[in-house]
Amino acid sequence: MPEPDQAILARKAAIVAALKVIVPGEGVIHAADALRAYESDALTAYRQRPVAVVLPRNTEEVSAVLKLCASMGVKVVPRGSGTSLSGGALPLADSVVVGMGKFNRILDIDYANRTVTAQPGVTNLGLTHAVSAAGFYYAPDPSSQIACSIGGNVGENSGGVHCLKYGLTTNNVLGVEMVLMSGEVVRLGGKHLDPDGYDLLGVVVGSEGMLGIVTEVTVRILPKPPGARAALIGFGAEESAGDCVARIIAAGIIPAGMEMMDKPSVAAVEEFVHAGYPLDVEALLIVELDGPHAEIDHLLGMVEEIARGCGAVSVRVSTSEAERLLFWAGRKAAFPATSRLAPDYYCMDGTIPRHQLSRVLGEIRRLSKVHGLGVVNVFHAGDGNLHPLILYDANRDGEIERAEAFGADILRLCVDVGGVLTGEHGVGVEKRDLMEYQFEEPDLARQQAVKCAFDPGTLLNPGKVFPKLHRCAEGGRMHVHGGKVPFPELERF
Ligand SMILES: Cc1cc2nc3c(=O)[nH]c(=O)nc-3n(C[C@H](O)[C@H](O)[C@H](O)COP(=O)(O)OP(=O)(O)OC[C@H]3O[C@@H](n4cnc5c(N)ncnc54)[C@H](O)[C@@H]3O)c2cc1C
Repeated sequence: MPEPDQAILARKAAIVAALKVIVPGEGVIHAADALRAYESDALTAYRQRPVAVVLPRNTEEVSAVLKLCASMGVKVVPRGSGTSLSGGALPLADSVVVGMGKFNRILDIDYANRTVTAQPGVTNLGLTHAVSAAGFYYAPDPSSQIACSIGGNVGENSGGVHCLKYGLTTNNVLGVEMVLMSGEVVRLGGKHLDPDGYDLLGVVVGSEGMLGIVTEVTVRILPKPPGARAALIGFGAEESAGDCVARIIAAGIIPAGMEMMDKPSVAAVEEFVHAGYPLDVEALLIVELDGPHAEIDHLLGMVEEIARGCGAVSVRVSTSEAERLLFWAGRKAAFPATSRLAPDYYCMDGTIPRHQLSRVLGEIRRLSKVHGLGVVNVFHAGDGNLHPLILYDANRDGEIERAEAFGADILRLCVDVGGVLTGEHGVGVEKRDLMEYQFEEPDLARQQAVKCAFDPGTLLNPGKVFPKLHRCAEGGRMHVHGGKVPFPELERF
């Protein structure tokens, strides 16, 4: 390995020394071995050690860190719990990672307004825990909810099994406090509905840490519904399950959740969780209805009738709260259960119009043969949000490249059938180079103009989302530099 340039070492030392003045004690991590814990997120195929990780404790420290980095021209990567599957929190070699783990307090619970205000490092499930004794909950529920932070949920506009009826993060966040790269602190939205002015909050949710660092989040909480029951509906063919999903929605029923798993996924989960899933079906739907008990009974009857009409071979409705939770425990463990099938899996995330489900599933099977890699399908069927899990072994030569090529083909397929590149995991580095497949150059230029309005120096999480490197310039014009953004500094496992 070549000797590090003395000038680079001196610059790194200067950055670390300046950060230590702002966040003293153990708040700055820069030793090589200690940085290992931060060199990757859940897109584990890539890793990169940053210059340093800083762990600020309050908004003033975040502001001072960003002001410092802006003055020294240092890139900044915001990080919550590091569970991003698209590489959103992946460090860059010449960046400082701002870890928000110390922002872990609930600041305000307001039952009258049905809101919770929390620091961004509070976990998604932590929000629900804070209000569950009073009969409330926070609706968006990513499978990673035990670990992922609400700040990361804002960054990725995360979803979960209950977002079909209750909306994604963007539909449940009412306000944020955010620090811009300049160090300025801005407040967008609040407890009230429908704030004045442009919907900047809508722009920030899903902005993948590229516009500012969120230091406070106000979310809507909901009263727990009086009841909820889930049905496991088995089908002899994936196409029949796909048709059933479309017909349930067409009948005007919006289930609290409607998830689909294919046969390999059902088998892997059942062995792992023993959720009581039927093993003799080609596809399984989990359909949950919530609300008053009479309404649940009525809608479950309609769902069963539709399912039977689509050729369902088995219908089993939960008879207790424990059983309902067990049904969901299986689905929520689908990713870890898949890790028992192969040394590695690559989780894809694309969205398609619901009526294309059967066609796309068939095409994914064909692509699996073309690329010579297995695939397990589990997805938010009601939203048309697919999560094919591609099975591979990173230790075998060329398999990771084949997995990525297979994944890219799946995402292009999603776009071809009228869908989009991502449903909830974000673009990050993973889907960045496919953005031009979905968007025309003027569309991407307008999107980057928004970034420039918040971060004219393009220092916040650069190299993510946008396939071409633009430098912001006066008057909103941008200049392209060097075509594709290279990632020479990224290391692969
Ligand atoms: C097993 C597993 C299951 C998953 N299931 C789901 C699922 O069902 N639904 C789903 O949507 N996702 C899922 N994910 C993906 C992931 O958990 C979500 O994207 C989550 O929102 C990331 O939160 P985090 O705190 O880990 O954020 P990180 O991974 O740390 O960061 C995510 C992005 O947000 C930015 N960011 C983080 N904090 C801040 C902040 N305070 N201010 C500004 N930007 C910030 C980062 O820069 C990055 O771009 C899953 C991941 C795993 C590993």
